[in-house]
Amino acid sequence: MSLVVVSNRVARAKANEPMTGGLAAALLPVVQNNGAIWVGSSGHVRDNVQKDPFGEIEAVGSGALALLDLPAAHYGGYYEGFANSALWPALHSRTDLIRATRDDYHSYREVNAFMARALLRFRKPDAIFWIQDYHFLTLGAELRQLDVKQAIGFFLHTPWPSRAIISGVPNHRELVEAMLAYNLIGFQTEEDCSNFKDYLEVELGLRVNDGEVSSRHGLSRLAAFPIGIDVDKFAAHAVKAMSHPDVSRLRRSLHGQRLAIGVDRVDYSKGLLNRVAAFDRMLTMQPSLARTVSLLQIATLSRGGIDAYGDLQEQLAKLVSDVNGRHGEVDWTPIRYLNKGFSQTVLAGLYRTAQIGLVTPLHDGMNLVAKEYVAAQNPADPGVLVLSKFAGAANELDAALLVNPNDIDGMARAMASALTMSLTERRLRWNAMMKSLRAGTVQQWFSDFIEALHDAHEARNRRPLAVRVDPTPAWPLRTTGGIGAAASCRVH
Ligand code: UDP
Repeated sequence: MSLVVVSNRVARAKANEPMTGGLAAALLPVVQNNGAIWVGSSGHVRDNVQKDPFGEIEAVGSGALALLDLPAAHYGGYYEGFANSALWPALHSRTDLIRATRDDYHSYREVNAFMARALLRFRKPDAIFWIQDYHFLTLGAELRQLDVKQAIGFFLHTPWPSRAIISGVPNHRELVEAMLAYNLIGFQTEEDCSNFKDYLEVELGLRVNDGEVSSRHGLSRLAAFPIGIDVDKFAAHAVKAMSHPDVSRLRRSLHGQRLAIGVDRVDYSKGLLNRVAAFDRMLTMQPSLARTVSLLQIATLSRGGIDAYGDLQEQLAKLVSDVNGRHGEVDWTPIRYLNKGFSQTVLAGLYRTAQIGLVTPLHDGMNLVAKEYVAAQNPADPGVLVLSKFAGAANELDAALLVNPNDIDGMARAMASALTMSLTERRLRWNAMMKSLRAGTVQQWFSDFIEALHDAHEARNRRPLAVRVDPTPAWPLRTTGGIGAAASCRVH
């Protein structure tokens, strides 16, 4: 098998640099250890993209990174436009933030078609293509147009929302119909998968049976593959990082005070304003906590060219400064707010130093920070994870203190109770969460997906279109739902 992984951005391979997000963090070990080629944007754009748009191919572990320049004329419309101002808000249930023009959609389709042409370079007979995330919903259909017959799988790192919400995206039918070119479509949770299935049945009039759907592309399978982390590596990083200068300095600066930590991109899906408001509320409700606990919020800036992100950066900085102004003392700052990133090794040490991990997104596909925080804890004296019930990770980490991120008082109470939780209870919860993390590592996620993709591809070939049992109805065809006895999506 020669595996080709495709995503918009690839991870920088250097161990001492921050990861650009959960996708990069998860895929890097997979590529390093499994000899895959990872194709993605170089971060540069070009006017006249030549026939071969690839720069140098770099080795990473037993795999390789192949970076390419994307077409300058379409990059803005594709990335900041359709992907991040139409799809991202919709996928995170923020239809109020959807901004999309026809030109943006056109650019999105153009970049997908461009990537498909570029990928032909890697079309070996035994190639398997594994496409990542919402930037490339239509890449599989473009590859099929170019007569690629090999297995093509897709994994969505974000949530997939309810039918009514996704219908708020312009051209949603075309997009979802194109996704059926994939042999396998993977989601973070069973709920995401079941929302997708509901869309297929009601909006496209397709029948989904036992996670299988037939369309004009042939058979596709749908399933949930909750993404994990390399638990042992993170735990080892955390032990080692305790002597790192950044981590030692942090510990010394606390003078015995307790620490809560948040690590997020500044994104409206992460619920940062509510989190800071809850920390504020806790200090107001319990003034005796002043000087006994502070919050370290690492907030890496992202997508600053999009208005919704620029506005959030301003609001958040203002709120933090307001809370510090009201509660701070000459020798105490309640919130340490940093707009810079850390390597995962240092991050692991920062997590281990904090008695509370705050992961409170309004919606999140998985949230790897939640898993990393748990893996980094000292088994003899573990911290407490305060986790939003709307993060995908809440399915596996239900032994965390689960909170509703819209309930500021409830979050303030959860933070305060984390501070007083007994060692016995902390250990019980932590052991339960570690058991779950060990059962679903990133290595397991990778092998489950690839095995299921292989099976789905074989199944499509065994059942060619001519003898399909459930032919696609004339499209688009609306039904009133409730078709057949469709079983729910499988969780791997
Ligand atoms: N991360 C990092 N350095 C930082 C902040 C974050 O390496 O300073 C990594 C973090 O370890 C995690 C990823 O970025 O693996 C964030 O993933 P998550 O799923 O939590 O959120 P996303 O940004 O993908 O929405």
